[in-house]
This record gives sequence, structure tokens and C-alpha cells, in this order.
Amino acid sequence: MSDTAGHDDRLHEECGVVGVWNNADAAAVAALGLHALQHRGQEATGIVSFDGTRFHSHRGLGLVGDNFSDARVIAALPGSRAVGHNRYATTGDTVLRNVQPLYADFEFGGLAVAHNGNLTNATALRRALVRRGCLFQSTTDSEVFIHLIAISLYATVLDRLIDALKQVMGAYSLIALTDSALIGARDPLGVRPLIIGRLDGGGFVLASETCALDIVGAEFVRDVEPGEIVVIDGNGLSSLRPFARSRPRFCVFEYIYFARPDSVVEGTPVYEARKRIGAELARESHVAADVIVPVPDSGVPAAMGYAGECGVPFELGIIRNHYVGRTFIEPTDHIRNLGVKLKHSANRPMLEGRRVVLVDDSIVRGTTSRKIVEMVRQAGAAEVHMRISSPPTTHSCFYGIDTPERGKLLAARHSVEEMAALIGADSLSFISIDGLYRALRQDARDAAAPHFCDACFTGDYPIPVPDASHNDNRQLSLLSELR
Ligand code: AMP
Repeated sequence: MSDTAGHDDRLHEECGVVGVWNNADAAAVAALGLHALQHRGQEATGIVSFDGTRFHSHRGLGLVGDNFSDARVIAALPGSRAVGHNRYATTGDTVLRNVQPLYADFEFGGLAVAHNGNLTNATALRRALVRRGCLFQSTTDSEVFIHLIAISLYATVLDRLIDALKQVMGAYSLIALTDSALIGARDPLGVRPLIIGRLDGGGFVLASETCALDIVGAEFVRDVEPGEIVVIDGNGLSSLRPFARSRPRFCVFEYIYFARPDSVVEGTPVYEARKRIGAELARESHVAADVIVPVPDSGVPAAMGYAGECGVPFELGIIRNHYVGRTFIEPTDHIRNLGVKLKHSANRPMLEGRRVVLVDDSIVRGTTSRKIVEMVRQAGAAEVHMRISSPPTTHSCFYGIDTPERGKLLAARHSVEEMAALIGADSLSFISIDGLYRALRQDARDAAAPHFCDACFTGDYPIPVPDASHNDNRQLSLLSELR
């Protein structure tokens, strides 16, 4: 979901979703699942449960642990069915009314929706819906689902949901809870992940990643397929395919950075994928060095793969403080700069006098790399070479990964040589796009039919982005809020 009010350049949000069906502790299971999915969103969290008669909800700003550790909060979410959401918002508009799952009462009963992804025609849809008299309660794009379902002329909730999904464009993995079913849906290209697990005693879990199953002891069943809708109800699990089949385009950045390394995504363990990407990076661009050092935590598996491939020792030359939030979500450059120092410190004995290869997953604005390179030099490194386990990030994501506007992406404005100079590294290399595909067990990227969504590296956007061409977005949505 994203903030359609567009208060700054960072419109896009990552999120984690979980749904639980037929478990006596549904809300607690959902809370544990959200806990495992905390990396997908740290700004706000919520759970809606259903007890057979009534829906109950709790939403709050902050981490899952801040909101769902109190047994009284869980006790106030009774029922054997629940849906939960972690929100990673980057706009200024962090208010409770934007915290999911969204909930609405319809003529057919209640419906709670948790959405991961980003709709690319939400502003246009919202404008049309507001004209029809729909009263929006939030500024998230996900609320268009609620209104499209409300005005649909179809009779059943499932048909209304399908009707709504056929009108939205963009990336979505969503979980809906009605008074008779738990529903999971993935967009036709399957850009964002969604998986199915089974609990002892006949229960089901739907979640963004398999790490949410492991924490509750659920058994992995399979991925929800791109374009598939799964319905879990009193009759068990059934599957619908209401869309024309498209060639799937799963988000390659989930492998590089976003998914948790212990998750298995589309059949591939993320940890192993990252190690293979690191090994491919070493084959493509290794330089003579004494030590391979990851930028923790996200650079660790790739650095292990890199070191294994080139035979140079791997050392933790940078230590991360785990008790500070992600620097990426800090609001100003000044704070971001401070944040990097708070988050990482040099492990001097591993760096002093050595030729160091630093491995990180990506360069976005370049803030992290610049600070880390400087820190490693100050610790006495003889040479500092930066190796990145993704191709240069040259384009913004419109499908649910937080990236700044294009003008703020270092790689959109500079050559690799210029970037090396800007971050102060002796050399800089990124994995090639073909190398990335090879590491993910594909042939080199087929430009006519790429296997992944890699728009952030190629500018090849597989889903149209009509909202991005509306430069009056902000005024429109602010207007709609005023009405
Ligand atoms: P920057 O400092 O702006 O160049 O950001 C790069 C750092 O942010 C890398 O170390 C990544 O691990 C991390 N990163 C990259 N993409 C994201 C994202 N979408 N959300 C949060 N962190 C990210």
C-alpha cells in the first residue's frame, strides 16, 4: 500500500501480511507471524479477528512487540480467524487511520483487508470514487479495494472482490477476512509474495513469507500463484483464476534485499540465492584483496558467497548495532548521516593495513556506502573496494518497494566511476543484470520475456503506472480529503 496523498517523494511502502484460519489462538498466531515479518514494515501494525459473530481489531503505531506483547490486547481479539498487517510507510502521514487491516461493514457483512504492494492507478480510481460520493477514511491506496467492493453490483463478497481486483492496476498480495472465509490474492504478475501454510488441527496460515510459518510451527503448503485467488472456508481450500494468464514477474529485489534470508521464496531459499549472487559478483569483478567484509546485515550472505568463490577470508570488519532503527527511514539527510554512524562501527583489527572488499546489497542514495567507506578508511584500511550484489538502482519502484524519486537515486545520475569517486572507494562494481539472473538459476536476462520484475535496474516496468504521470496527484488527493 502507499499514501496517495503524496506528501514527499517517497510514496511507496513495503508491508507484511498474515492470515489465520481455524486456530483457537488466531490473534496470537497472527501476532507471531507479524513478529517474523517485522522486517517488511516497522511503522505500524494491526490485527483484526473474527469470533464467529463479531469482528475485533487492534491497530497501533510502532513495532509488533510494542503493540501485541500484552496478553490483554490478544485476549481482546477473540476468535479462531484473524488477519494482520505490518506497515512500512515512509511518508509523513503516519496516522492511525492509515494502519491496516482496513475494515468495513457491508450489506453482506464485515470485511477486513490487509494489502502488501502498491496500486499504480489508485489516484485515478480514488478520484472517480470520490466523484461518485465515496467517503475515504484514509490516504492509503489500499482503501480503494473497500470502495470498489462496496459499489460492486455482484452479489457475493468473492465476486465483488474479483470485480474490484479487475479494476486495480499494480502489485498486490492481499489477505481478506470475511465472516465466512479467509481469502488470499496475488496480482496476475505475482510481483509480491504470498504463501500458504497448514497448522495442526486443520488450520491454515497465509503469509508474505515462509519465516512467518516457521515461527508458529505451520507446514509450508505452496505459494499462492500469480493471478490466483485462494478461498479458505468451511469446505477447506479452493482456488480461482479469474484473470487471463500472464507471464509472472516476481520482484527480484525480494531476493536481493527485502525477504528474510531464512525464507523460501518461489521455491528458492533466499539465503542460498544471496550466496550465489555474491559468488557471481566475485566471478565478475573480484580485485586483489586481503579480506572480504559485509555491510551488515543485508550484505552478509552475498559477502559469504563472494569470499567462498574468491578464496579470500571473510571477516566481520563492521559491527552493527541492532538497537537502532533502519537508517533508511530517517526523515532528513542530516539525521540519516548520523544514523549510519549510530548503526555501524568499524572492527579495527580486521581492517587495519588490509585491502578490503566491502559487500553490500544495493546503493540507493549512496549515503550508507559513503559513510561506511569513510569509516573503514579511518580504521586504517589500505584499500577499500565496494562490491554491490545488485545492478545499479537507476529507477524508482512503483510496485511496493520503498525507493526515492529517480532524481535522488545515485545511479540514475552518475556513472559507476563517478559513483566510486562520490562514495570515496578505490573501486566500485555492481553485479551485471545477466549475472544476477544466472545466480537465480535463469539464463541471461531475456529482454523480450524477463523472468523477474527488475524495473528498478532496467526501467522495464511490467505494469503500467498511470498515477505516476499525474503530476497533480497531491492536489487531487488533498482535495478529495477536504471534500
Ligand atoms: P543508501 O544509503 O540510500 O544508498 O541506501 C542503501 C542501503 O539501504 C543499503 O545498505 C541497503 O541495504 C538499504 N536499502 C536498500 N533498499 C532499501 C529499501 N527499499 N528499504 C530499506 N532499506 C533499503
